[in-house]
Amino acid sequence: HAKSAGANRYLFFNDTMNKQAVKRLQIENLIRHGLKEDYFTVFYQPKMDMLSGKVVGMEALVRFITPKGGLVSPASFIPVAEETGQIVDIGTVVLRKACIDVKRWIAQGLFHGRVAVNLSAKQFMLPFLCDQIDDILQQTDLPSYHLELEITEGTVMQSPKLAIDTMKKLRARGIHLAMDDFGTGYSSLAYLKQFPLNTLKIDKAFIDDMSSARGRNMVDTIVTIAHNLSLSVVAEGVETHEQLEQLRKLRCEIIQGYYYSKPLSAEDFAAFLQEQKQQRPKIAAL
Ligand code: C2E
Ligand code: MG
Ligand code: MG
Ligand code: MG
Repeated sequence: HAKSAGANRYLFFNDTMNKQAVKRLQIENLIRHGLKEDYFTVFYQPKMDMLSGKVVGMEALVRFITPKGGLVSPASFIPVAEETGQIVDIGTVVLRKACIDVKRWIAQGLFHGRVAVNLSAKQFMLPFLCDQIDDILQQTDLPSYHLELEITEGTVMQSPKLAIDTMKKLRARGIHLAMDDFGTGYSSLAYLKQFPLNTLKIDKAFIDDMSSARGRNMVDTIVTIAHNLSLSVVAEGVETHEQLEQLRKLRCEIIQGYYYSKPLSAEDFAAFLQEQKQQRPKIAAL
């Protein structure tokens, strides 16, 4: 009996693997087609200052536009793109589009902060990464201090020494660096203090856990670590007013999440900036 169940399981496993391989190949082809036909677009999610309630920055998030006009989330194609190496080309597209959009918003007087672009491990490890970024900044005429890069612990821990070198080069250009999804990876505190970062982004999983005292203590600890290292802290995935108030008490200074806004198309984001601009700063009401 056990033997036949085992055999079945083996067959099932094989079938699943096959389906996954086919699916993967389909996604790979779709990405190749999308790169050729310019089907990738960038959405923006605001980062809000806790005290002033104003936009201090935004995160650029890639989207794939299907031929029917639908949007595909990066969760479904980024892992494949990472494996095939296509993430490097996608990353270039995102970086260029983000720089163009932000340059326009700055010129229109709508914005003067930073745009944060996610870098994958493969992209971050490119020996010519800094040259590529220099080229894009120059072509789009965006001063480097308007750019921030988000990298994960997994990315920097693949080769910490090399990562520190690259991070120093980027910092020397005035580019800001944020560690994304902090707390979910494998970086040690010993390394953390060596990484020339500006910001820690607390992963959404920790924000979700804030309904419990233990969860709040964890966030408290992360905020304290960040501040002790002179880093600013961004809470990602903030959805409720309660979370916002708890984060305020814990002195987390920047908030990102559906509570304020979902990621928006460039057009909608410009409208969001316009609306923000018309609002009186909270301080004026005091
Ligand atoms: P991430 O960098 O941690 O980005 C945050 C993700 O959380 C985004 O998902 C965002 O839409 C989502 N999010 C923000 N606020 C909330 C909230 O309040 N509730 C919930 N449930 N979700 C929220 P998205 O856009 O699907 O991106 C997923 C991941 O894909 C990103 O995680 C990032 O790791 C990766 N990614 C996105 N764009 C790029 C890109 O251009 N390049 C690279 N290499 N990776 C990217
Ligand atoms: Mg990110
Ligand atoms: Mg994140
Ligand atoms: Mg995350």
